Amino acid sequence: MSVIDRIEITPELDSWLRETRRYIHMNPELSLDETNTARLVSGHLKELGIKHKTGVGGDGRPFLADPKVLEAAGFQLKPMTGGTGLLATIEGRAPGKTLLIRADMDALPIVEQNDTPYRSTKTGAMHACGHDAHTTVLMGVAEVLNGLRDQFDGTVKLMFQPGEEGSAGALAMIHDGILDDPPVDAALALHVDNEIPVGSIGVAAGTLMANGDVMRVVVHGVGGHAAFPHRAVDPVVVSAHILVALQEIVSREIDPFDSAVVTFGAINSGTQNNIIPASARLEGTVRTFKASVQDHIERRIGEIARGVAESMRAEADVSYLRWYPSLTNDETMSEIVREAATERLGADHVTTLEPTFGGEDFAFVSQKVPSCMFRLGVANAERGITYSVHHPRFDLDEDALAVGVEVMCAAALRYLNS
Ligand SMILES: [Zn+2]
Ligand SMILES: [Zn+2]
Repeated sequence: MSVIDRIEITPELDSWLRETRRYIHMNPELSLDETNTARLVSGHLKELGIKHKTGVGGDGRPFLADPKVLEAAGFQLKPMTGGTGLLATIEGRAPGKTLLIRADMDALPIVEQNDTPYRSTKTGAMHACGHDAHTTVLMGVAEVLNGLRDQFDGTVKLMFQPGEEGSAGALAMIHDGILDDPPVDAALALHVDNEIPVGSIGVAAGTLMANGDVMRVVVHGVGGHAAFPHRAVDPVVVSAHILVALQEIVSREIDPFDSAVVTFGAINSGTQNNIIPASARLEGTVRTFKASVQDHIERRIGEIARGVAESMRAEADVSYLRWYPSLTNDETMSEIVREAATERLGADHVTTLEPTFGGEDFAFVSQKVPSCMFRLGVANAERGITYSVHHPRFDLDEDALAVGVEVMCAAALRYLNS
């Protein structure tokens, strides 16, 4: 019997996974606020006798940009360490390689619209990205791998991170030393996916997720009465021109065989119909794969926004912040996941992923060590579970929890014993 055949998801473990996911789903905590979730994880690890550190990591954003620039751009920063992250360690039967497995714990500021018995009990917070499932699966992985620790060589590190949704919690944990002592050789993670049916996973090597940057343009005009526009400089009209001009970077300046996204998700200005406001603010995101495309767009956003504003007698302050880097799956690690999943689920249940413009802070780990983030299918069309992540009606088929534990453990054992 191979060690991978010894991975067993008992009915007790399966129902524990479902209950745990529901508890976390009902009690969501926003980025960098995951105290109760962290307490739950720590309690489980303690029960299993797995040694772990709490209070690891925190707000990773000050590692991305000068805190003064971030604060000026409206970000309210929290401490960079002493936060809610946990790092657990399971040692195998003999020295060997060290594998890190990661889950994120934070929820999103969304009002849940599902009417399930396990819907969020906190208005304005919802696990709409499936991080409740990620945390649960990693707690299950802890239990299974701890039970098999006389069957593998090396060390498993379990990373439960805060603040994935924009706060770069993974980066803060890396700064707190989670990749050292013993040094991590490779890493694995999973993310739920509602484009893949439950019972299947998706994997591929290569760059699968984009550089996700943040931009903000503040247009300063001259306010006044709406009936006397000639005595004012209208920042609303100026920002409309800037917005249209910036949309033309991708269509007119980027090689059509490359790709990029420039999206403005927020425009704010003014208070009522008869006042010309003094300023207007545009906020958006830029997604790219190639460094040269990223450099070009960053430079041109500044030039175009300032140039258009100046030509219209206004001024534009532009901030462009490089946020999450692109996520690249290592060839060997992806092959290990593919083989492990094929062995456990069958080749029909392993699909090949295509790149998307989504962003992901596991990318900070994948920049440091060979990594693979695979996708765990959670869709079930018959049960109406098809809404995408970040949707107020997102849900997942809980049969996926056991699949996630199985595939993750199988991939881990395959890596450690190879
Ligand atoms: Zn998300
Ligand atoms: Zn997510």
